[in-house]
Amino acid sequence: MFVVYSGDLPDPRRIRQCPGVRDVHRISDDFKLVSSQWKQGRSTVTAGEVDFGPRDFQWIMGPCSVEGEDQLESVAAFLSSQGVRMMRGGVFKPRSSPYSFRGMGLEGLNMFRQVADRHGLGIVTEVMEVAQIDAMVDHVDVFQIGARNMQNFNLLEAVGKSGLPVLLKRSMSGTIEEFLQCAEYIYNVGNERILLCERGIRTFESAYRNTFDVNAISYLQARSHLPVIADPSHGVGLRRHVADIGLAAVAAGCDGLIVEIHPSPDSAVSDRNQTLYFDQAEKLIDAGRKVHALRSSLTL
Ligand code: PEP
Ligand code: MN
Repeated sequence: MFVVYSGDLPDPRRIRQCPGVRDVHRISDDFKLVSSQWKQGRSTVTAGEVDFGPRDFQWIMGPCSVEGEDQLESVAAFLSSQGVRMMRGGVFKPRSSPYSFRGMGLEGLNMFRQVADRHGLGIVTEVMEVAQIDAMVDHVDVFQIGARNMQNFNLLEAVGKSGLPVLLKRSMSGTIEEFLQCAEYIYNVGNERILLCERGIRTFESAYRNTFDVNAISYLQARSHLPVIADPSHGVGLRRHVADIGLAAVAAGCDGLIVEIHPSPDSAVSDRNQTLYFDQAEKLIDAGRKVHALRSSLTL
């Protein structure tokens, strides 16, 4: 068992002499448990039968929004043909406008679960509020916390207590320090299964939707032991560039990619401009595996 003590520290030499104490570490980071100062080496996070970590690069692919059974079936069949084991798809969608499609809700989640089970896939889906957790927990493999909820501390603690793995997205204006403190909220209630996700930040540049912060991949892995996933879809927001940015993230050493795909992207109900066709996704997977193999063979 470990105990985190913050505030004015007693002399660590005295604590070390107490019965039952094996070791005492002084961790200067504000985020103690997710810090690489506390735990050296990279953690592996298991979600269902899928491992995320240094030995297990993972792909998470699927539509921005769950739209119906035909769409789910088509994506799931494609993913299993590619050896991808995790499928994404939102049933509760945070939308900038209240008039946009806001998701199929629990009906969509039940449909998603059935289709995913038929194809042996795990589900990553966003939870937007504490009240949704109980109804979702038995149908989900990884809870996604969206960028807009990164600092929703009550939600972070509640998903932490749900016991499911959590994919935590960095907010569009969140610093690395803030991001890691948010992960700490989840870890601190006893949930170690956290995936950090860089999904682009808002800068002065308006040519693309967000600016993908490739620095964050390498930097997060230095400051934290948790796996780091990259989201090039929201990171650049333009289909033409998603594969390039995804490959850049793989070359930078990320532990997995989350990418939006759709059987007919131009009719997707959300995020169609950044959503890949299946043939583009297939090329990205193939290239990504090659870049990952090359990267793994290098010692930098
Ligand atoms: C999404 O994954 O579709 C999404 C809404 O992402 P983000 O929270 O990063 O904007
Ligand atoms: Mn999206």
